[in-house]
Amino acid sequence: MNDTSGSGPSTRAVHAGEQTDPSTGAAAVPIYETAPFGFATAEELEETFYNQRDGKYIYSRLGNPTVRALEKKVAALEGAEDAMAFGSGMAAISTLMFTLLRPGSRLLAYRDVYGGTSGFFQRVLEPWGVEITWLSVGDERLEGGKALQQALEGGADVLYLESPTNPTLKVADIAAAAEMGREAGATVVVDNTFASPILQLPLEMGAHLVVHSLTKFLGGHGDTTGGLVAGDAETTERVRAQRVDLGGVMDPLAAFLVMRGVKTAKVRVMQASENALAVAKYLEEHPRVGKVNYPGLPSNPWHETARRQMRAFGAMLSFEVDAGIEEVRKVTNSLELIKIIPSLGSVETTLLLPAVSSHYKLNRAEREAIGIPDGLVRLSVGIEEIEDIIQDLQGGLSVL
Ligand code: PLP
Repeated sequence: MNDTSGSGPSTRAVHAGEQTDPSTGAAAVPIYETAPFGFATAEELEETFYNQRDGKYIYSRLGNPTVRALEKKVAALEGAEDAMAFGSGMAAISTLMFTLLRPGSRLLAYRDVYGGTSGFFQRVLEPWGVEITWLSVGDERLEGGKALQQALEGGADVLYLESPTNPTLKVADIAAAAEMGREAGATVVVDNTFASPILQLPLEMGAHLVVHSLTKFLGGHGDTTGGLVAGDAETTERVRAQRVDLGGVMDPLAAFLVMRGVKTAKVRVMQASENALAVAKYLEEHPRVGKVNYPGLPSNPWHETARRQMRAFGAMLSFEVDAGIEEVRKVTNSLELIKIIPSLGSVETTLLLPAVSSHYKLNRAEREAIGIPDGLVRLSVGIEEIEDIIQDLQGGLSVL
């Protein structure tokens, strides 16, 4: 049974991992900002080392109570048996990949994954000897999933995808991809950062494991970094052991901040999704705006898939301004409320220009081939009054 109800995560899941501190009665999970843990006797030290288990702590790289409370909370939200937290999303993704793959392994990955992830696959995993095949969103669905099926026939240890994607908000059919991946014997991994468990539950759709940048919607306030892997107890235990070796642990203060963010994630993500839909509808009607990439619009090619697998359509969208980069810069520089920030998932509305930031290493032809013209603006819509967001966009676009 998973820990969610039709209207969002259950209260039980949101409170998971928390208990009144037995020694002080503290109601919030304390920030155990300590590296080692002390022992009253040599026998206790010995017993703890020989019988390592949940709730017994030795050293914070091996485990920490504040981080553990966060892991239990996000595992409950994702409907997972367990989860392991990290210092960043990339620490989570890299540690998981080193757990699942070896030189000679085959990785099937969607090419629209976060640039840091595809860079890690190409710069680190490929030279290490992992063979990578790149897929496109839709390969799992078009013509009965023929393209994904063909790729899987070559053998696959891991099938890795992300949905919705950055920055063009394509929506992969997670259930279809997971079913085909499972049948072919691959471990199916979904990066659930953009949607968060408030909007979609990849494990319920058949994925084996979920990864997160907690830096985004679950942290929710742009004030800390973190990452997480959630899934079955056996694999997450292997991930924990690999984390001990690689060392990418989460700081207890960061875990505390993300835990606080998780408590309000449902109201934040639902409000931001409602705002994003209103912004997308406004932009779709604007004479100087071309394409609007938002799966919540009925005109969007990914709308039906999104409707099936997401509770709401999320806070992320992108749109093409009908102008060159110079003019687009003028638009963004004249905004008063919306900040130019190369991250996402915070309570404030933020934007970036992918062509000159996240995708600056690609030339124009390469960028246009993946739907990123110079005039593309990516928005992470926040929870401000919707009238204020639209008024700011209206003001910015009026300089054209
Ligand atoms: N996954 C997605 C979808 C992201 O957007 C990001 C960062 O932007 C990451 C993973 C990496 O997370 P982090 O920056 O916390 O390492």
